[in-house]
Amino acid sequence: MEPLPCVLTIAGSDSGGGAGIQADLKAISISGCYGASAITALTAQNTTGVAGIEPVTPEFVALQIETVCQDINIQAAKTGMLFSAPIIRAVAAALQDKDFPLVIDPVCVATSGAKLLKDDAVQAMKDLFPLADLLTPNVPEAELFTDMEIASREDIFKAIDILLEMGPKAVLIKGGHFDSVAATDWLGIKGRQPIPLMQQRVKTKNSHGTGCTLSATIASGLAKGYDMVAAVRKAQEYLNLALRASFDLGEGSGPPNHLA
Ligand code: PLP
Repeated sequence: MEPLPCVLTIAGSDSGGGAGIQADLKAISISGCYGASAITALTAQNTTGVAGIEPVTPEFVALQIETVCQDINIQAAKTGMLFSAPIIRAVAAALQDKDFPLVIDPVCVATSGAKLLKDDAVQAMKDLFPLADLLTPNVPEAELFTDMEIASREDIFKAIDILLEMGPKAVLIKGGHFDSVAATDWLGIKGRQPIPLMQQRVKTKNSHGTGCTLSATIASGLAKGYDMVAAVRKAQEYLNLALRASFDLGEGSGPPNHLA
């Protein structure tokens, strides 16, 4: 059998299985790729919230990335929860000389409200952006990194410009948190007009891990050789189906259903 395209996720573990590494590996597998992982932190978590966080040492995060990349032919990677400035700097150093496409999901806060990025790690996260082929903030994250309020389409365009200035090749601002523009995501690519990517909004409380799922599916598309627009479009379609098929799990916010 032909080898599958290999995707590396660098993210936190969600013991509830809905977000983080667990969501990423499910999405990567269903996308027809092979998933490897470098775990940045353990979270003790269920659908209602995060009970605790146990970070991995920066050196051990870097060792996981280096060990995987020495042996396995990684064709794309994504980052999720990176938690602290020292972990972010270790990830930056380990990825510096790698030439596969990288999707950075600048995870800051869990769906339940728990902080997944320390306050003093925001600048380190910005310093990572130049390594990204694609940066995928939601609106609150885009506001944090641009230091502006986003209330209109013009604001989204401005935020895309500011974020592109920080060095990623492309930026996807996810409209899921932005009621007035429904479920439109905006893809900004250097030198091009922002592209609106629309999906019908799915009304469900089960949205835990949607950002993880989207970025892992985009990375899988890039590993398969899709161009950026196609990879994002296909990932949006995948997430939309998975959200439609989501089911109640536990008392809180369940995840998208990857078997949809
Ligand atoms: N990574 C981990 C380990 C998480 O627990 C979460 C959310 O709880 C996230 C990332 C971000 O999740 P989402 O995809 O909902 O933004």
